[in-house]
Formats: sequence, C-alpha cells, structure tokens
Amino acid sequence: MARYTGAVCKLCRREGKKLYLKGDRCYSSKCSIDRRNYAPGQHGQSRKKASEYGTQLRTKQTARRYYGINESQFRKYFAMAEKQAGMTGENLLRICESRLDNIVYLLGWASSRAEARQLVTHGHFVVNGKKVDIPSYLCKAGDVLSIKKKSLDSEKIKAVLEANASRPVPQWLEVSNEANTAKVTALPERDQIAVPVEEHFIVEFYSK
Ligand code: SF4
Repeated sequence: MARYTGAVCKLCRREGKKLYLKGDRCYSSKCSIDRRNYAPGQHGQSRKKASEYGTQLRTKQTARRYYGINESQFRKYFAMAEKQAGMTGENLLRICESRLDNIVYLLGWASSRAEARQLVTHGHFVVNGKKVDIPSYLCKAGDVLSIKKKSLDSEKIKAVLEANASRPVPQWLEVSNEANTAKVTALPERDQIAVPVEEHFIVEFYSK
C-alpha cells in the first residue's frame, strides 16, 4: 500500500484525535484539531455514532497513522504480536514503539515520526556501533543508539536537536545528551506508551 502523502492534519481530524504528525505545529495554537475538531469533507460536521466495526476500524487506523505504518506492515506486526506471550494488543503497540524511527522521534532527534523516518533513511543514526538506515528496524532492550559524528555537524540535525531539547523523553529510554547517545533500558510497559487508543479494538478488528 502506498504511503499517504496528503495533508496530514486531515488524518487527525478524521480520527478526532491529535496524532502529532507535524512537529512543532502540533503543540501550537495552529493545530487543526484545536481549531476544527470535526472530520474533513462535506459531511464532516455531521458525525454519527460509530458502529462496533467502525470503532474497531477507526482504532486500527488511528494507531497505524500515529506511527506512520502501512497496512501490510501493521498486519505483519499483528501476526508477530499474536505469537508473543502476553496480551496481543499490548504486544502490538510495543512492537510499534520499538521501531527505530519511533525511538528517534521519542528521543527528540526528530520533530515528528515522518521526519525521523527520513533522517534514519539518510543514515544519520547508529545502533550498537553500526549505521542503520532502516526506519522499521526493531530495537531491543540493551540497544545503544547514537547520532553519527559527522551528522552532528549538519545544520539540519543541529536545528532539530535544539528545537526538541525540552521535549520529555520516556523513562524506558536513557539519554546522554552530552554524548548524543541513548540506551533502550527496556521495552515499554503499556502505561509508558502514549498512543491514544484502546488496543483491544484492534485485536477485535483483526480477529474477525
Ligand atoms: Fe495537524 Fe499536528 Fe494538530 Fe494533528 S496534532 S491536526 S498533525 S497540527
């Protein structure tokens, strides 16, 4: 499935939730969800009560869009999550959280997950001493991430780090700002994952 390239604020308005897809703008008064919290399109303001299927579908779409993952990849993650011990929905979110592009964003090394994906693809990051340029790379507990030394001289990277320096980093990531490195101390528990969904609806959606 092709990656969505339209206006990303419409995705938040469709889901009725902030998905934080646009960096700084999401935290400002310019956020479209704060100004027009109704679905886009002609009938957007006449939102009806969602059916059971509708709720499941919208929950799945919200999570997928929040992380910027396409449908086939998301399905693969669901299959992986089913095979793991524990709650499938929680496992699914943990897999999404462990993607390299997501962690780069959470560390404040990018302003949005989309930007993180681009910076990873451009080879700015190193995992356990080796360059990794695959945004979907799944990190594990104990992995050490860093910004490539040469990249630290880039004006773009300097600006991104400065802009996001005050953004709080989740507890499961241990950051050393001086060295521009971070360690994944453990993969997150559900209460450390901020995605605004009730994941059991996703499990119900795929279990039909
Ligand atoms: Fe746009 Fe960000 Fe607001 Fe979503 S949260 S509507 S992407 S500004």
